[in-house]
Amino acid sequence: MNPPDALPTISGHVLHVAVSTPMHSQLGDLLSYASSTPLPPGTLVRVPLGAREVLGVVWDAPSQPQPVAAPGRPVQLRAIAGVLEGIAPLDQHWRRLVAFAARYYQRALGEVALAALPPQLRDLDAGQLQRRLRRMQSAPAPENAIEKIAYSAEQARAIAEIEAHPGPFLLFGSTGSGKTEVYLHCIAQALMAEPAAQALILVPEINLTPQLEARVRARFAPALGDAALVTMHSGMTPAQRLKSWLAAHSGAARIVLGTRMAIFASFASLALIVVDEEHDASYKQQEGARYNARDLALWRGREQGAKVLLGSATPSLESWHASRPPTADDPQGGRYQRLHMPSRIGAGALPRVRIVDMGQQPRRAIFAPPLLAAITERVQRGEQCLVLLNRRGFAPVLHCHACSWKSDCPHCSAHQVFHKMDRSLRCHHCGAASRVPRACPACGNPDIAPIGRGTEQLEEHLAALLRNVIVEPQGRAARVARIDADTTRARGALEEQLAQVHAGEVDVLVGTQMIAKGHDFRRITLVAAVQPDGALFSSDFRAPERLFALLMQAAGRAGRDAGYVAAQGQPPEMWLQTWHPEHPLYAALRRHDWPAFAAQQLAERLGAGMPPFAHQALIRADAKSQEVAQAFLSAAADAARTAALPGLELVHLYPPVPLAVQRVAGVERAQMLLESASRPALQAFLAAWQALLHAERPRHRGLVRWLVDVDPQAI
Ligand code: ADP
Ligand code: ZN
Ligand code: ZN
Repeated sequence: MNPPDALPTISGHVLHVAVSTPMHSQLGDLLSYASSTPLPPGTLVRVPLGAREVLGVVWDAPSQPQPVAAPGRPVQLRAIAGVLEGIAPLDQHWRRLVAFAARYYQRALGEVALAALPPQLRDLDAGQLQRRLRRMQSAPAPENAIEKIAYSAEQARAIAEIEAHPGPFLLFGSTGSGKTEVYLHCIAQALMAEPAAQALILVPEINLTPQLEARVRARFAPALGDAALVTMHSGMTPAQRLKSWLAAHSGAARIVLGTRMAIFASFASLALIVVDEEHDASYKQQEGARYNARDLALWRGREQGAKVLLGSATPSLESWHASRPPTADDPQGGRYQRLHMPSRIGAGALPRVRIVDMGQQPRRAIFAPPLLAAITERVQRGEQCLVLLNRRGFAPVLHCHACSWKSDCPHCSAHQVFHKMDRSLRCHHCGAASRVPRACPACGNPDIAPIGRGTEQLEEHLAALLRNVIVEPQGRAARVARIDADTTRARGALEEQLAQVHAGEVDVLVGTQMIAKGHDFRRITLVAAVQPDGALFSSDFRAPERLFALLMQAAGRAGRDAGYVAAQGQPPEMWLQTWHPEHPLYAALRRHDWPAFAAQQLAERLGAGMPPFAHQALIRADAKSQEVAQAFLSAAADAARTAALPGLELVHLYPPVPLAVQRVAGVERAQMLLESASRPALQAFLAAWQALLHAERPRHRGLVRWLVDVDPQAI
C-alpha cells in the first residue's frame, strides 16, 4: 500500500483518479488528487483538470507507489472538487473489466472508464441526482416468471445442461428453433435463484431491441414490474441513458437489454449474460477502444462468476472452434459447451434453397426469368417476398462512354453513388454530395449513364416488372417497397416501414442486410439474394463467413409461420442468383449445413495460420500522403525490432499496405497486420510498443493519427 502520510507536503489523503484523457496525451493513466477524507476505490468524484472540472473514478492505488513529487521540491496536489453523493462506488468487478479492456485494446484506462459512464453523470448537480436516485426502487423476485410452455426435447436438453454446468455455452440453434425461449427460461431461473440477481441481454443492433424488449417485458413485467427491465443503446437520450445506468448500478433493474455498450454497465449483482446473434460484427466497436462486446462478455462472466450464454444460428468461427466437442485426438475439446437445437419449432421447415446459374440466363437479366415467375406467382396469391441486395443507391457509379469519366469522389478513392430519388451523387465514405451533372463534366457529352445497380434501381425495376400483377383476393396492384439506410434516416421511419410490411401493404420488400436480420415477418415465403457473389472473392478472409451468415439469416425470414405456409400450400424458398453455382459455400447453404461450411473454413484457416488459429492486430496510420502513413508504420516496426520488444520473436509483422479504400475525406490510410500464434506474446508486444509509437509520432510530419485494432473484424 501507499501510505499517504509518507508524503509530507500533502495534507489528507492521496487519491488515484481515472479521468478521461485522450490516449495520445502525455498524462499517465491515473492522476493524483488530495482529499480530506479517504474515499474507497470506485467512488465517483468531480476533479479539476486544467481549467475544467471533470468526472473521475477513484481507482485502486497503483501497486508500485508513483513518485508524486520530485525529492526536495514541494508539490501541492490539487484537491478533488466533490463526491457524487448517493451513488455507491463502482465495484471491483466493474473496475477490473475496465482495466482489462483498456489493457487488452491498448487504450488509456481513464478513457475506457469514462466512456463507460453515462455522459449526464457529469452534468447533474447534487440535488438533481438525488431526485433521480429516489425514484429507483428494487423489484421483487419473480415467482411465476417461468412460462408454462412445453419445451421441445432440444430446448429441454439445452436448459438442463445450462442449469447443470458453469459454461460458457454456445447455443447453436436454427432460426426459429426457440433460442429466445431458452434465454428467457435461463433468465427466469437466475432471477428466482437469488433475490438480487440481474441478467444482461446483448443484441447486435438497436433495430432489434424493440421486438425483443416487448417479448421480455411481456414475460417479466407482470411479476417484476415495468421498471425491472431497462434498455441501453446509443439511440437513447442522455436522460434515458442515465436512468437505465442508475437502475442497473443500484440493482433496481433486474434485466438490462442493450447493444454492445451495455457490456460496460455497472451491475449490483450480475448473474447471467446472454449474447444473442453472437457472430454479429456489430459487437465490435469501430472507434476509440475497439472492443468486442462478445469477448468482453466471456471475460466478465468468468471474472465475476456470471453464466454466459452465446446464441446463434451461424456462430462465429472463433466460438465454433472454441466449442468443439472432445474427440480422441483432442480429448479436452473446446472451452465452451456447445448446445445444438437444429429443429425449428414455431416456424415450419427451413426454406428450400434454389440456385440460379446466371451463366444460363438471358444476358443482362437482373432477375432470372424463373425467379421472376416465382415472385409473381407468390405475389398473386397474396404472399410476400423479400429481395436482398447489399448495395444502396441507384447505381454505384455514373460513367461517360465518350471519355470514360467516372463519378469519382473528389476526396476519396471511391466512386460517388448515384441516388436517383434526389438526383444526387453521394460518397458513402465521406458523405460528400453533389447534384448529378446534366452532361459529362470532362467532355460535355450529355449521354452519361449509370453502371451497376443498387437497391433503389432494383426497387424501380421490380415495380416495372410487376406492374400488371394483381394481388388476390383483394384484386389490387402489387406493391414494391424498399428498406435501407436511405429510407430509414428519419426517426421512426424504420418502424413505420416495417409496420407496413407486417400489415400486408407491401408485397415485395427490397432492401439491404438491414431487413435480413431478426425480423419476424409472418407472411414472407420467398427470399431472394440477387447478387451475392461479391463476397466469394473478397480480400477479407472473413467475407465468406459473413456471407453465409447473412444468407442463412435471410433464409430464416421465409416461412416463419408454419400455419400460414401450410394453408398456402407452397413450401418457402430461398433463391440465389450466382455466376458460381458450384461454389462450396452455396452447396453447404443449400443443405443449411453450417457445420460443413465451418469445417471447410476452419481447415482453410488452419492451413493458412489465420484466426482462430492465430491472433491478429492491426495498426493503422492516417496521413496527408500514403508515403507518410507507410513510413510511420515501417519506422514503428523497425523501432520494435531494434528495441527487441518482448514477444517480438513470436509476432509476425507484415509490410504496410494501403487500405482497400485508400483515401477517405482527403486522408490517406495505410495499415500493418500483426499476427501471432500466441495471444500473450502479441499482447506483451503491443503493450511495450505503445511507448515507441508515441515517441515515433513527432518524427512524421503530415501524420494525422494512428490507432491499434486488436482482434480486428475486417482486414
Ligand atoms: P429463435 O430465437 O431461435 O429464433 P424463438 O425462441 O423466437 O426462436 O422461437 C420461434 C417461435 O417459436 C416463437 O414464436 C416462439 O414463441 C415459438 N416457440 C419457441 N419455443 C416454443 C415451444 N416450446 N412451444 C411452442 N412455441 C415455441
Ligand atoms: Zn465525357
Ligand atoms: Zn468521399
